[in-house]
Amino acid sequence: MSSDASGDTTILSWGLVLLLTVDNPHEVVNPLRLGMRVERTPEPCIMVIAGASGDLCYRKLLPALFGLARSRHLPTGFTILGLARTDMSDDAFRQSTKEALEKEGEDVSGPLWESFAKGLFYQPADYSDPGSFTALGKRLVELDAVRGTCGNRMFYLAVPPSAFSTIINGLGKAGLSRDAFDPSAGDADAKALQGWVRIIIEKPFGRSLASARALQRDVGRAFREDQVYRIDHYLGKETVQNVLALRFANLLFEPVWNRRYIDHVQITVAESLGVEKRGAYYEESGALRDMIQNHLMQVLSIVAMEPPASFKANPVRDETVKLVRAIRPFDAESARTSAVRGQYGRGWVHVTAVPGYREETGVAADSPTETFAAVKLTIDNWRWAGVPFYVRSGKRLSHKLSEVAISFRKLPHLLFADGPQSDVEDNALVIRIQPDEGISLRFEAKLPGPHMILRPVRMDMHYGTAFGGPTTDGYGRLILDALLGDGTLFPRYDWVEASWTLFAPVQEAWKNERPQNFANYEAGTWGPAEARQLLEQDGRRWRRF
Ligand code: NDP
Repeated sequence: MSSDASGDTTILSWGLVLLLTVDNPHEVVNPLRLGMRVERTPEPCIMVIAGASGDLCYRKLLPALFGLARSRHLPTGFTILGLARTDMSDDAFRQSTKEALEKEGEDVSGPLWESFAKGLFYQPADYSDPGSFTALGKRLVELDAVRGTCGNRMFYLAVPPSAFSTIINGLGKAGLSRDAFDPSAGDADAKALQGWVRIIIEKPFGRSLASARALQRDVGRAFREDQVYRIDHYLGKETVQNVLALRFANLLFEPVWNRRYIDHVQITVAESLGVEKRGAYYEESGALRDMIQNHLMQVLSIVAMEPPASFKANPVRDETVKLVRAIRPFDAESARTSAVRGQYGRGWVHVTAVPGYREETGVAADSPTETFAAVKLTIDNWRWAGVPFYVRSGKRLSHKLSEVAISFRKLPHLLFADGPQSDVEDNALVIRIQPDEGISLRFEAKLPGPHMILRPVRMDMHYGTAFGGPTTDGYGRLILDALLGDGTLFPRYDWVEASWTLFAPVQEAWKNERPQNFANYEAGTWGPAEARQLLEQDGRRWRRF
């Protein structure tokens, strides 16, 4: 037994480890037994990464693809064509990929790298020049012939959002967005084309309702909705997907997953880092746009949606859309009382003195950008009426942590109220997204001894212990799904629009009213006093860590 970080809970983790550790962990992760998808290999294809000279490509995408190659999830002939304005040869791209993989701790000395490198190519492009897209089309056809990729193409937009529309329009005008299944293509065109064409679009999809609609207009002109994969890497995380398994592969939880038993839900995504070198980017974004409107709302949708009829893309996405549409809209008053913002000032994070947000590179000295946001959401449906969902995210908080905490209601009657200890804690189910991915359940137990003294204890499931290994950051899983044509874990446009619509009044209110008290929280704390008050006014408090 040991003491919890909060100091008030006794952990019985060893007890549950015994329950969860199985003789053969591989047997347990068999997707069939979990009721999840059966593994398949995608068809041969070319993945065109626009922005191939950038941070996301080298730090996340290429390592994720190399991981898929290692686990033999990539098809024979799988080809990556890097696309960017930077002039580079195929060999230079291979070399920089090798260095990037080495930096991520990958072994690039053996046959796996040799085979991966054979599928790496590069094409410089000026996205404003239609000639670049004609050249791209020709290169794709050449590569098809050499690599046997059958006209299957996956475009990945790993460029700043300001370049999304230009590239989408360029692909559309060059006829590169159409595939053999395009009902709008004439017969002759359709026969001339082979294979499928899909596009993965990085976040953010718009920075407001109006800009999301404008981007969608461009997307819709070039691609059908079923070709489009809007990536939110949070949905690729094992623990987020495990919410689906927890809810829908167990009989135990669904009966209590409602207003009758649940008091409230807290969703927290906390970072201890500041904006690092991305100050200029963050100035245009802020915590509401960068985290809450997309990542946290996706997590909330999965936690709170109704059971879908099947684990297929559209039934699951239909339910997430219904859920967001059931959230009570903000008005001018609730945008003021149920949404709070903050910005970090100087402080200490892990014994290091750190500067305030307004002192970071690329940030205005009087910046109104919020580095912390918290909202209280109310879902107006039969399941959740009266159960508040508190959602918060911020930078330079006390430590890095992402979790969903389901707090259950108080007991209707306390049997042990006359005993020496009557202060019973409410049950809580906590889904830890990161770090130390897992699930824990807090309940009361009797302390050994002659008296009926109660103490909260935890049953703890750790992913690492139960399934014998760390989980990935989600990119590999999502790229594989897109290559397989499975859109279940990708937000559909109607979800994106519903989420922007929900937060539009808050964005409007924050735009019209400059914050007077920024910086209003010290780096290394849990955010501004207003965030505490958001729960205190309801007689609750944020979880302490
Ligand atoms: P970068 O700023 O590193 O840009 C990527 C590449 O895009 C650059 O190398 C550059 O290549 C090209 N580029 C830059 N500006 C423009 C422009 N105006 N027009 C066309 N091309 C341009 O971005 P990231 O790699 O960090 O991010 C890419 C996308 O991924 C963004 O949408 C971001 O929001 C998203 N994202 C990134 C994450 C990350 O960890 N980096 C995490 C989650 C999402 P060149 O000049 O050679 O053309």
